[in-house]
Amino acid sequence: MTCDCCGSAEWVPLFSENGLRLGRCPDCALLYVDDIPDPTARMTEMEEGHYAGTQQINEAVKQSAGEVIQRDRFQAFVDLARRHRGDGRWLDVGCGGGLLLSLARDAGYDVEGIELSADRRALTEEATGATVHGVPLEDVGYPDDAFDVVSLINVFSHLVSPARTFAELRRLLRPGGIVVMATGEFTAGVSKGDMLAWNLGDHLYFLGDGTIERYAAASGLRLIDHERRWLPDEMFSREWLRVKGRSGPKNALKTIIDRTPGGLRLLRAVMLRRQADSSAHSGTFVLTPAA
Ligand SMILES: [Zn+2]
Repeated sequence: MTCDCCGSAEWVPLFSENGLRLGRCPDCALLYVDDIPDPTARMTEMEEGHYAGTQQINEAVKQSAGEVIQRDRFQAFVDLARRHRGDGRWLDVGCGGGLLLSLARDAGYDVEGIELSADRRALTEEATGATVHGVPLEDVGYPDDAFDVVSLINVFSHLVSPARTFAELRRLLRPGGIVVMATGEFTAGVSKGDMLAWNLGDHLYFLGDGTIERYAAASGLRLIDHERRWLPDEMFSREWLRVKGRSGPKNALKTIIDRTPGGLRLLRAVMLRRQADSSAHSGTFVLTPAA
């Protein structure tokens, strides 16, 4: 194995889930699974709506319902982008059901999307009227300097090679353009217990301390904004409870919490109390061309 970020061949195993092991690069702190699928296999999985063999990705309708709940969070991404780049062409990579693109369009941007899942793609097209491509970013064939804003919300962890994607983002950005990105960040001391479910296989990569700076430097980008929040706050949502995975006991626990009045609030309270020693964060990043 070779680290996608820094090229190191060293990889320190942490724990296993879904038949995959997650480990850390000791040089750049990138966390990644020990079996990164090739792009063709990944594309087939996305089109068929599963990963790691049998795990199902969210149905489009569920995804869309989750996005509505997240409206405030998505609006905050638009507000963040506006502070750095107030108008122009906005590309949302992994646009899901299209909520972020709708909000970006309402803020005055010309919007376009990429979504590999066909039913989600249809939802975005219906909601926004925007062009939505069904192939990976690198395969669309965009010209240089095509966009003012490119967003990747909860996308980084699913990429087959983030390094390849960052190189392409650098090429696509106009001078002064920005990438707005949100993904999981796991700091020193990360352990399996920091998350109730890691969904390894669907997620292939997580950032560690300082990893984003390494990616940025390697691809001609510069980090100009970085916000970090405790992950449990946004993770333990009603939608999350209703998405069932492979683990029977976890599914049963989710059902019980979902059906218990105040159950979700209690779970969040418990998880937030643990935050003092949790290594799990949700990171939001803004990157711009270095020169
Ligand atoms: Zn590395």
